[in-house]
Amino acid sequence: MKKLIGPISQLLTMRALPLKGALADNQLEIISHAGLYIENEYILEVGDYQLLEEKYKHVEQVILEADMVCLPSYVDCHTHIAFAGNRANDFALRNAGSSYLEIAAAGGGIWSTVQHTRACDVELLTQLIVMRANSLLQQGITTVEVKSGYGLNVEQEVKTLRAIKEANKQTAVDLIPTCLAAHMTPRDFEGTSEEYLKYIQELFPIIKAENLTNRIDAFIEQSAFSAEEIRNYLAKANEWVFDITLHADQFTTSGSALAVEVGAVSADHLEASTEREIQLLAASDVVAVALPAASIGLGCAFTPARALLDAGASLAIATDWNPGSAPMGQLVASASILATMQKLSNAEVLAAITYRAAHALRLSDRGRLVEGQLADFTLYSTNNYQNITYLQGALQPSSVWKNGQEVYSQQA
Ligand SMILES: [Zn+2]
Repeated sequence: MKKLIGPISQLLTMRALPLKGALADNQLEIISHAGLYIENEYILEVGDYQLLEEKYKHVEQVILEADMVCLPSYVDCHTHIAFAGNRANDFALRNAGSSYLEIAAAGGGIWSTVQHTRACDVELLTQLIVMRANSLLQQGITTVEVKSGYGLNVEQEVKTLRAIKEANKQTAVDLIPTCLAAHMTPRDFEGTSEEYLKYIQELFPIIKAENLTNRIDAFIEQSAFSAEEIRNYLAKANEWVFDITLHADQFTTSGSALAVEVGAVSADHLEASTEREIQLLAASDVVAVALPAASIGLGCAFTPARALLDAGASLAIATDWNPGSAPMGQLVASASILATMQKLSNAEVLAAITYRAAHALRLSDRGRLVEGQLADFTLYSTNNYQNITYLQGALQPSSVWKNGQEVYSQQA
C-alpha cells in the first residue's frame, strides 16, 4: 500500500550525519513543506510536498491539516522493563539518606525486584512488558531494547526472555531482547561469582535453540563482576556468536576498557569515565550510551557526553528504565536534561535517540527518514523542531508510525 503523507512543516531526515563525533544543528537536513512517500513498511521518497503530490497523483494521501514536525521514531537502546514489583520505598529511603546496605536490610534493593519477577508467571510478565512498551510508544519510541536480568538462574532467565519474545508479538513496538543473566551473583546461588558465571553459560544453547536473543550483557562493577571475572564468560559468549554490550564505568572504571577489548557493540553508563576511557571509546567502534535517567534517579553525576562527542565517540542516549535507579522511563525528558547539563546540540540529542541508538543495537534499517529505511516516524503538532528538547518532554507526539502504519494517535 502506497501513501503520501504531508504537508509537513519541518521534516528532519538525519541524512548523511556521521555515526561518530560532535554535531552542529546546521548539519541537520530540514525539509520545509515536506512530503513522505511510503510503500508498505518502507520509505520510498522524501522531499518537497508539492513535487511529490504532482509525481504521485493517484496514491492514497494522508493530508495533515495543522503544522507538524516529523522525525524518525526514537530507539530506546537500554531498558530493564521486564520486571515486576515497585521500589518507591527504596527511592524514599535513599532520598532520606539511607545507604545501599540499609535499603537492602529493609527488604529493598535489586533482590526485591528479583523476588517479585521470579514470582510472576510468564503471562503476567509479558503483560507488564507490553504495558511499558506501549507507554514508551506514546513518547514516539518504536524500538526498545529489553534486558532480562531479574531472573538470575537458568529457568527464570529463560522465562524472562520468552516473555520478551511473546510481548514483541503483542505490541507495535519492536522489542530487541538482551540476556543480562550476568547482572549480579544472586543471593541464593551457592558458590562463587566465577561458578555462577560458568553455570549461566547453560543458557547459551537454550537461547540459540529458541532464538531468544543475539545479545549478551554483563554488569562490570565492584558490586557485580570484575573485568577479570567476566572475561571467560564473554569469550564463551563470543564463541556462541553473541553481540556483547556492557554496563560499564557507572561508579568505577574498567568496564569501558573491557568493552573496547572485546569489541562490544556498546558500553553503557560511563558516569565515572575519565579522559583515558573517553579516548579509548572514541578510538573504537563501541557506542557510548548515556543513561541520564539513572543519574537523575540516583542523584549522581551525568555521563561526560560532551567530552565523548568532542573526542569523536558515537553517543546514544537511553532511558535505562528500571525500578531501582531509573524509574522515570522518559527518553526525551531525560535526554533534554542531559543536553542542558552537558551542553549538547539538538542534532547531538536527536542523533543519540535515533540512528546512533539504532547503531548501538546494530540496526541499520531505521533511525533516518531516507529512501529504503523503515517508515518509522513521529509527528509533533508544532512548527519548530527545537520545541522538542526545549519543552523537555512536555511536548508529546500527536502521531506515531511504525512500519508504515499509524500505531498511536493522541486523538484516539
Ligand atoms: Zn542498565
